[in-house]
Amino acid sequence: MQLNSYEDLRAQLVSRALTCEEVVRFYLERIDQHGDDNIYITVFHEQAIERARMLDRKLQAGGTLGKLFGMPMAIKDNIAIKGSKLTCASKILAQYESVYDATAVLRLEAADAIFLGKTNMDEFAMGSSNENSAFGNVPNPFDKNRVPGGSSGGSAAAVAFGLAMVALGSDTGGSVRQPAGFCDIVGLKPTYGRISRYGLVAFASSFDQIGVLARHCDDAALVLEVMAGRDERDATSSAHAVDNYSQQIAAVSVEGLKIGVPKEYFPENLNADVSRMVRGKLSELRDRGAELVEITLPDSQYAIAAYYILVTAEASSNLARFDGARYGYRAEHAENLAAMYVNSRTEGFGREVKRRIMLGTYVLSAGYYDTYYKKAQQVRRVFQDRYREALEKVDVIAGPTSPFPPFGIGDKTGDPLEMYLADVFTVPASIVGMPAVSVPLGFDSLKLPVGMHLICNFFEEGKLLGIAKLMQRSL
Ligand code: GLN
Repeated sequence: MQLNSYEDLRAQLVSRALTCEEVVRFYLERIDQHGDDNIYITVFHEQAIERARMLDRKLQAGGTLGKLFGMPMAIKDNIAIKGSKLTCASKILAQYESVYDATAVLRLEAADAIFLGKTNMDEFAMGSSNENSAFGNVPNPFDKNRVPGGSSGGSAAAVAFGLAMVALGSDTGGSVRQPAGFCDIVGLKPTYGRISRYGLVAFASSFDQIGVLARHCDDAALVLEVMAGRDERDATSSAHAVDNYSQQIAAVSVEGLKIGVPKEYFPENLNADVSRMVRGKLSELRDRGAELVEITLPDSQYAIAAYYILVTAEASSNLARFDGARYGYRAEHAENLAAMYVNSRTEGFGREVKRRIMLGTYVLSAGYYDTYYKKAQQVRRVFQDRYREALEKVDVIAGPTSPFPPFGIGDKTGDPLEMYLADVFTVPASIVGMPAVSVPLGFDSLKLPVGMHLICNFFEEGKLLGIAKLMQRSL
């Protein structure tokens, strides 16, 4: 079965060259062949086929077809689907079933998408390699001994291996963009508040955003269009009008495009292949009529510190709800209530999650609040001003997605700080809340994928994807 893009699939469905059921069976078969790769935590074998049949009947009956009619999708396992497991790749939620649907899920369903299953991830979306999962490692699609990135590693691998056409991820500091870069696909994090977070299990609420992993910018645009928009169940969702992103993509032209290239995004220790490929792509765009504008984003060196202070603070509060009483896992042995809480959390959470809860409670504690948490909030504000100012002068800010290509499984697990540095180029957009995307640039000298990272101003997702598409097309 040759399925290139959603447009292609839809044409084949509408012309009856294919049925939804055939498409779903094709994907399910591939998923089962990759069963040992831990890409999916749950596969919806029966439900997906049932739904495909329902959609086939709808087509036959001449019903109105939704925007995503028959699109086979994977959903990261921290996004709620009613009646299905919602594990967040954690032992503490391993048996937990969601009692409601995420708003994003409801909107996709209303547009006739088909869910194939729930994908693996770093526990509670904390990580950059998918190695912090209670459900095992996921291989990089281009080298089985390397990581697919994280935390949406399962979603990225699913799309890259062809086990879903499009996948949802969540992005708090890079978890959609970095794995997309590591797996040679497109990964979009929209503006903060563009998509409702209702039903997305909270990690750091003022950063979290659902994102899209796809092969093509147009597919990502379509899925975004369906999910975006105000939701009364999420007070932080934006009422900003939802644009026709597909149309906006088509309107972007390389002629006269001002691409901001911050010198801070090309540090001396940047991997040589990454630097060469990103610069090569930028020169190519200049040759095609774009203008490269050298810019500076001072204080970039504080991004990682500020990010890890703020997100751990929020996480320590958000994860307090997993106490053995309300959801999921409860320790078997406990002498009293306090011991039940302690034992459940000690046994249920993995190392990285515990590390972050401790860090977060520390930076919020009396005596350290001003030194760490408040300071980091101030840095956040400074970043917002700097990025706003930069985007008054240029259309887009460009650089590498990751400072290095996919690394080996186990290479960075011993040193959390090393792992945190994987996010150095993706966290700024999360700190400021602007939309950002990773575009695949091709392969380095070791045949490993390299991604380009682009940031646009608030709510400019259409323009952002349009610029991304310019880069992808000329591969
Ligand atoms: N890798 C980053 C972290 O561990 C980003 C995670 C995310 O975006 N969910 O926090």
